[in-house]
Order: sequence, then C-alpha cells, then structure tokens
Amino acid sequence: MLSSVVWLKDDFRTINNPAISSLINEKKSAKKVIYIFDKDKYHKQEAQRWWLAKSLEVFQEKLQELNITLDIISGNAEKIIKNLVNNKKIDKIFWNKSCHLDENRTEQCVKKILEENNIIFIEFNSNLLNPVEKVKKDDGTPFKVFTHYWKKAEKIYLENNQKIDERISSYSKKKKINKDIEAIYPKKNWNKKFEKYWDPSEEKAIEILNNFIKNNIEYYATNRDIPSLSGTSKLSPYLKFGQISVHQIMNKCLMIKSKKIGFRKFINEIGWREFSHSLLHNFPEMEKNNLRKEFDKFNWIKNDEFLKKWKKGLTGYPIVDAGMRELYETGWMHNRVRMITASFLVKHLRIHWNEGEKYFRNSLLDFNIANNVSGWQWVAGTGADAAPYFRIFNPILQGEKFDPNGEYVTKWCPELKNVPIEFLHKPWEMPEQLQNQINFKLGHSYPLPIVKHVEARNSALKAFQDLKK
Ligand SMILES: Cc1cc2nc3c(=O)[nH]c(=O)nc-3n(C[C@H](O)[C@H](O)[C@H](O)COP(=O)(O)OP(=O)(O)OC[C@H]3O[C@@H](n4cnc5c(N)ncnc54)[C@H](O)[C@@H]3O)c2cc1C
Repeated sequence: MLSSVVWLKDDFRTINNPAISSLINEKKSAKKVIYIFDKDKYHKQEAQRWWLAKSLEVFQEKLQELNITLDIISGNAEKIIKNLVNNKKIDKIFWNKSCHLDENRTEQCVKKILEENNIIFIEFNSNLLNPVEKVKKDDGTPFKVFTHYWKKAEKIYLENNQKIDERISSYSKKKKINKDIEAIYPKKNWNKKFEKYWDPSEEKAIEILNNFIKNNIEYYATNRDIPSLSGTSKLSPYLKFGQISVHQIMNKCLMIKSKKIGFRKFINEIGWREFSHSLLHNFPEMEKNNLRKEFDKFNWIKNDEFLKKWKKGLTGYPIVDAGMRELYETGWMHNRVRMITASFLVKHLRIHWNEGEKYFRNSLLDFNIANNVSGWQWVAGTGADAAPYFRIFNPILQGEKFDPNGEYVTKWCPELKNVPIEFLHKPWEMPEQLQNQINFKLGHSYPLPIVKHVEARNSALKAFQDLKK
C-alpha cells in the first residue's frame, strides 16, 4: 500500500518538526515514519548509539499515540529509499534537512531518485536557524570570521523568525524494547552508566531549557566557564538528536523580558553552532584537513603511549584528567575543559588534532561533525577565526582560575581529595612529608605529569616558529 512517509533523521521531536507536522496533516490513512540506521556511520560514534537507541525507543511510543508507525530499517539510505520507491511503498516523502554534510550528500542522491520516479518530496530547514547556504558576504563568498558572520546571520534570522507552536502531545512512557532498537545499542557496557545522567526525551529537553532560562541564563556570562557549576544548558545532545530545535531555543530566549549579558553570550554560542555548520558547508575539506594550509607541514608527534594516557585521564595534570574522566563517565565534557584537554593534546603533546577529534567523535553524546571539527581546529589554531597556536593554555593556571576550590577536579579524580588546595592543580610540587601525612604517593596514588609544562610549551612554540622558515 502507498504511504506518506517521513524520513526521520536527527529530529526526535513532535514540536517544531515540520516534516512530522506535514505528515499529520496528510489526509491519507497510511502514514509512516522510517528511520534508516546505517551502522557504518555509527561505527566510530559508539557513545551516540546509546542515545540513538534510547531516542528511538521513546519516539516510537510517542508516534504510536499519534497513530503513526515507526519502521526502523538497517542499511544504506539511498538503497533503501530506492527499494521502497520501486516496490511502490511511497507516494510522498517529507524530511528535515540534516545539518551533517555526509547526510546532505545522501539527501541529494535520494532527491534524484525521487525526481526520476515522480515522487513528491518536501525538504524543510529545521535544524539550523538559517538555511546553511543563505548566509554569505555581500560579494557571495563565505564568512571566515565569527563576529561578521553572526551579525548577518542573526539579522536574517530575526527578519524571518516565525512563531512556534508550543503544543505538546500527552505521552506516557511504556517499557517495550523493540528488537530492531536493541541491535542499535552499543556492544560495550561502558555506555550503561549514561542512564544515570541523561533522559533522551523531548519533554526533558524542554524542561532543561525552561529551567535554564528561569535560573541560569542571567549568570551564563560568568558561570559558563566554571565546570563545577551547572552554568551551561547541557542541551547539546538534545540539539544533536533534535529532541529540541535551535528555533525553539531562540524563540524562548527572545521571549525573555530583560535581556542581559547572559542572554547575549548564550545566543552567541548558538551563533557559533551556526558558524561551524556554515564553515563545514563552505569548506568541506576541513573535516579531515587543516583549514589553514600552512599547518600541513607542522611537525606533529606520533606518541601512542601519551595518546592513551590522555584518553584515560592519566596525564598527571588534574584539570585535564578530570575532563577526560568526565567524558568517559558521562558522554559529555564541559566546554572550558574541552578547550583545555584539546589544547593539552595538540600543544603539550603535539599530537595531531585528528586523533583528538576521533576520540571525541566516539565518546561524545553531542558529537556533530561541524562543531567537533571546528572546535578542534579552533584550539589547534588551524581553523577559521581560531585561537592562535602560540597562545598555549597553561593547565595549572586554567585549573586554578576555573576550578579554584577544586570541586570539579576532586569529583572526577577522587584520589586527589585530600591534597591541599595550593597543590591540587600541581600535585607534583607537594613535599614528600606532606604526601606521607595525607597517605598519598605521587606516581602511585596519582600519575606523575607525563610532560613538563614549560618544556612542552617551549617545544610547541619552536615547532610553530619552524613553520615560518
Ligand atoms: C575540542 C572541542 C570539541 C567540541 N565538539 C563538539 C561537538 O562534537 N558537538 C557539540 O555540540 N559541541 C562541541 N563543542 C562545542 C561546545 O563545547 C559544546 O557545544 C558545549 O560544551 C555543549 O554544552 P552545552 O549544551 O551546555 O552548551 P551551552 O553553553 O549551554 O551552549 C548552548 C548550545 O550552543 C552551542 N555551542 C556552545 N558552545 C559552542 C561552541 N564553542 N561551538 C559551537 N557551538 C557551541 C551548542 O549547540 C550548545 O548546546 C566542542 C568544543 C571543543 C573545544
């Protein structure tokens, strides 16, 4: 039987989901949502398989209440849609355009198949504030500087902004795990603990947004840098999987009556998300390569032992180790600490940013190519509008400034909890006598630093100078 179909991607929501709304408004009785699970794509995104499987579980129940079935099909999207078309299963198809480059390529191929077969399709922009190709300089070239980009992008958005229907369907959680979903869950048990920290539902995303606007946005400008506080929204995995849309977030922010600095700083971060997507769209080669070509001859170091210690949070630098352990335990890491850990890898250890990008890709629940690649290239100094390579974060001072009482570090590195605060971010300076008093032995209780800060900094600066020769 012919059906109207939504091709569901990262948009697990019923509010502000134009593809789902269009399906609901269809007069036909046969309505379907299909989710195509391409396991090759998730091969190196192990943590996200957990979020995806959970999202499918929750959304399937939700669609049932709307009398819509969700089919989960494994395989390659292009081939599967071609098959459905050939077998006369689809007469109309809707989707929200993905903000991932590889998905956009698939969408182009699917459009071609649909056109050849005279199948009606509608593609919506829902996952970015503006269609990615719309924000260009007056001469038609892409922006490379954030402030210029965001000035124009925000203006275009505000001129076209449409009110969002906030109605939400009632929904009761039932436990029934479909075997197609079971196959998506990661094989490794490490992800099981994510349950403790996250609830991947649309309702939770809205609750988080409302709480954030009510209690936190006012203080966001300062609190966002303190990893021990709930200073940021933690909406990133919900945004990645579309449990909430960026339009809903902007809409809610614009309703704030007294818009202070926290509001401005927060929507600028939403602007950085748009900017990253614009960069990757215009410079797709940056997914793997340096945007600034002069870095192609940079003298990176290959050191598997140090890379492993960085991944495991055993570098001997407490703020770096705390961040890496937070990531492993929760699938998320605070932005300030992402910058510190990334900087440590590419500057103190001089390991190529590709290695860090790969590890974050596999471990972050909020991984998206555009933000991750831009984040890494920003820190490495190889990207657009990036931190210059010679500005090297000092992990000791960063720890002392942003975790002055050591709450964050001792949460994730509990073996340091008795270390006096003056030594917490540099435990190697602790006199042996004091170590004995607190029953702590550097090198046993906690690792010795794998590199010395000053030496590593000088060697990174030299490698940078050599680039200019
Ligand atoms: C090395 C590195 C890798 C990163 N990888 C990712 C990634 O894979 N996925 C990801 O979503 N973000 C990534 N970021 C950006 C940022 O760290 C996260 O978006 C942020 O920590 C998410 O937490 P939050 O939702 O509480 O953010 P909030 O501070 O509450 O910000 C709200 C939203 O704005 C966007 N945002 C915030 N900061 C940035 C930023 N610097 N760049 C782009 N968008 C931003 C996010 O969508 C975020 O959810 C990376 C940053 C670095 C330095």
